[in-house]
Amino acid sequence: MECPVCRKGVLQPVDDILSEVEGFAFVERGDRCPHCGEEFIGEADSERTIRVARRLGIWGEPLKLQRKLSASGRGVVLRIPEDLRRSMHIKGNERVSLAKVGKRRIVLDLDAAAEG
Ligand SMILES: [Zn+2]
Repeated sequence: MECPVCRKGVLQPVDDILSEVEGFAFVERGDRCPHCGEEFIGEADSERTIRVARRLGIWGEPLKLQRKLSASGRGVVLRIPEDLRRSMHIKGNERVSLAKVGKRRIVLDLDAAAEG
């Protein structure tokens, strides 16, 4: 599969993706782009990390929020909840990149190069 981030690399399956939650390291399987280094954690493994993190009491519940999408004109809008916006210092003028992971998951990255 072509890397959805850089569209140059072809994703390679790996089993050494490191995620850190509150100082705990989780090793997960997934795919990595050899070109830009972007990592995509497999759905089953990311569920497992959440489960283990919950059991350790380090998974903040507010991290997973239920939100409704709303239709606006031709597009679909997702509102970022205020507490999340504040904790992530989102100003509202950032660029974001979206990556489709699996069939029912979208990962949204705030562009590090956002200005202002
Ligand atoms: Zn890439």
